[in-house]
Amino acid sequence: MLRDVLRQIEQRDRFVLTSHARPDGDAIGSALACCQVLRAMGKRADVVLHDGVPRVYRALPFADQVMQANRIAGDYEAAIILECDSIHRTRLEGLENRFLISIDHHVSGRPFANVNWIDPHAVATGEMVFRLAREAGTPLSPEIATCLYTALMTDTGSFMFQGTNERTFALARELVLAGADPSHCARSIYFAHSVAKMRLLGEALRNLNTEGHVGWTWVTQEQMERWEAKEEDCEGLVNYVLSIGEIEVAAFFREMPDGRFRVSLRSKGKLDVARVAEGFGGGGHECASGCSVDGPLDRAVRDVLELLRGGPSVQ
Ligand code: 5GP
Repeated sequence: MLRDVLRQIEQRDRFVLTSHARPDGDAIGSALACCQVLRAMGKRADVVLHDGVPRVYRALPFADQVMQANRIAGDYEAAIILECDSIHRTRLEGLENRFLISIDHHVSGRPFANVNWIDPHAVATGEMVFRLAREAGTPLSPEIATCLYTALMTDTGSFMFQGTNERTFALARELVLAGADPSHCARSIYFAHSVAKMRLLGEALRNLNTEGHVGWTWVTQEQMERWEAKEEDCEGLVNYVLSIGEIEVAAFFREMPDGRFRVSLRSKGKLDVARVAEGFGGGGHECASGCSVDGPLDRAVRDVLELLRGGPSVQ
């Protein structure tokens, strides 16, 4: 599939790249890096994201060139969609009738594009962009390496999540050799939070519940408004629940303006949370997944917990 993707790229000149709404480090890092790889191949390429670049990723090379929009407009010959299982997850209009190339590493990845390169063995989509760069013979600049290292570091939970293996470290080594600075990459992400996020963490910890090996918490719209917190300030709060010793699986519920709830699910490895999320129309990985469920809060918690209590174990 990699060769197929490269062939399709070689045949065209003008590309738009995008990823999912509420982009995480892998979405941003792999889109920025892939854009630079295309430019190094002599192509014209832009990155367009529905939600723009979250605060913690704004220091990444070329992040200031990302366009925030609701719609893709322009004479692009193809769109490269990273980390998505559908056009819908980009929340962008104007992709429908374009030539689409999908690059994704989720187990729940679906072949929705004209060309689909889905590799659940890759620990991050950034790993796939690295392979694309190598196959294309593009030199790895320190800027590309920095974007890819950030993708790798964030999607492996700082090299802690299941799936992290010797290939992950071999790739990290290559990226550091190419000019990525690990402490700089880590500092600008893990030591760059907003005060609002810390306030929200306080609320989430006050709302913490545990029941056997399952832990969950939530934040409401009212709490988010009180601290002027943004969606991106909720990123990673679920990990505080998972950090409790006896907890095997954690859920974080964020109330959305329409009264539904965004759910982040995390597992230490015994329970497959991708399958739980898929049950609600979402997806992700065995150990990290997400979905949206109907409110009110009691119902959202009840519905999700029902599946988490006796949920599917990892095969
Ligand atoms: P998060 O909880 O950080 O939003 O998402 C965790 C993982 O699940 C990420 O890899 C993300 O891409 C995936 N994910 C989250 N929400 C959805 C969703 O609604 N659909 C799909 N297919 N994947 C999701």
